Amino acid sequence: MSYYETIRSFAAEKVAPHTTRADKEGRFPIESFEAIRASGYFGMMVPKEFGGLGGNMLDHAEACMALGEYCATTALCYMMHNVATLAVVMFGTDEMKREFLPQVAQGKKIMALAFSETGTGTHFYNPEIAARDNGKTAILNGSKSFVTTALVADEYLVVAPSLEGEGLDVWSVPLGAKGLSFEPTAWDGLGMRGNNSMPMILESLEIDKSRRIGGALKGTAVVFDAVGPLFIAGLAAIYSALAIAAGNAAIDRAKNRRYGDNPLSHIPTVQEHLAKIYALAQSAKALTLSAAKRGAEGAADTFAQIVAARINASDNAVEACRLAMRVGGGAAYTKRLPLERLLRDSYAAAVMAPSVDVLTIWLGRVLTDQSPL
Ligand SMILES: Cc1cc2nc3c(=O)[nH]c(=O)nc-3n(C[C@H](O)[C@H](O)[C@H](O)COP(=O)(O)OP(=O)(O)OC[C@H]3O[C@@H](n4cnc5c(N)ncnc54)[C@H](O)[C@@H]3O)c2cc1C
Repeated sequence: MSYYETIRSFAAEKVAPHTTRADKEGRFPIESFEAIRASGYFGMMVPKEFGGLGGNMLDHAEACMALGEYCATTALCYMMHNVATLAVVMFGTDEMKREFLPQVAQGKKIMALAFSETGTGTHFYNPEIAARDNGKTAILNGSKSFVTTALVADEYLVVAPSLEGEGLDVWSVPLGAKGLSFEPTAWDGLGMRGNNSMPMILESLEIDKSRRIGGALKGTAVVFDAVGPLFIAGLAAIYSALAIAAGNAAIDRAKNRRYGDNPLSHIPTVQEHLAKIYALAQSAKALTLSAAKRGAEGAADTFAQIVAARINASDNAVEACRLAMRVGGGAAYTKRLPLERLLRDSYAAAVMAPSVDVLTIWLGRVLTDQSPL
């Protein structure tokens, strides 16, 4: 069985029961996270020699898709953990790998991304926080605008201007570091309501240079070669999952809502909506999995493929949810059906950095042999 099938069964049993509460209460789905911790899936991107599952981009996409069908919030937090893990796998020193990766594999170290800032928004690769060289350490000052899994994750990858004055640095800042704090009441999103996304404050935070992933002058590569591709593929997977979930919920409603003996599913207009939703969802899923497979194979067109998959999945998720709301009627407008949650979650698709608008420009540039930026 593929990871998609096994993790889908796992998610139906262990994640789905906590989804509604996380959404209604804006509460982090800690029970789902504990179940993932116990399952070993937090070790997806950790090489087998460190006790992990040794997964690749396709395995990651399948896992995110499977979780996303049952709880997009959980999938989003899980996805970012995998992405941050890969940064350590690809660019960490041997010492850092020995320290981090066995713990990640055992679910004892959860990772998160602190990239975006208020000043530069979706252009997270232009950080404005201050980083000062302090000999064996660096001093970080400033704030990050959205940090998913805040206060739950044990390590946060913080993007900062390079100490060398050129490009980026990526620092792994542990929860509890002196000078690190979050604004715990800040997250009140339209969707993805359980994801604990909060502003992070860095106040004269002193960090050892051994926690600079990749060392000097490597941060840009960490962001664009490790974090970026896995993140884009992961988002494509999660938004494909939302389209699939909207289709499943709409089919369920169409079969079970009856006027007398006649179910909604016997009405041609409803059948047409269901067919369109199915086509949207299957297209998102197929392109995402094939793009992630290209990534797993190290194919030259990986960037174009995963960006296309993310754009397609983002648009298809919103459209699939819109049509599913029509099938669901007035009931879909209430919290009796999951459809309004799926619609709200789907609206994060286009705006998460790099946004679909920005990625569309990047793709057009890459297709015509230009640099994306
Ligand atoms: C649910 C959720 C979870 C998140 N989690 C994290 C996280 O864990 N870590 C993290 O670092 N960040 C996270 N973010 C932040 C996110 O990824 C974006 O950085 C942030 O939403 C964008 O910032 P902004 O609101 O300032 O948008 P802006 O930067 O103000 O962008 C507004 C709009 O302008 C468009 N735009 C801007 N520049 C261009 C351009 N050059 N060309 C075309 N269009 C453009 C964008 O497409 C966008 O639609 C999260 C966001 C959400 C919604």
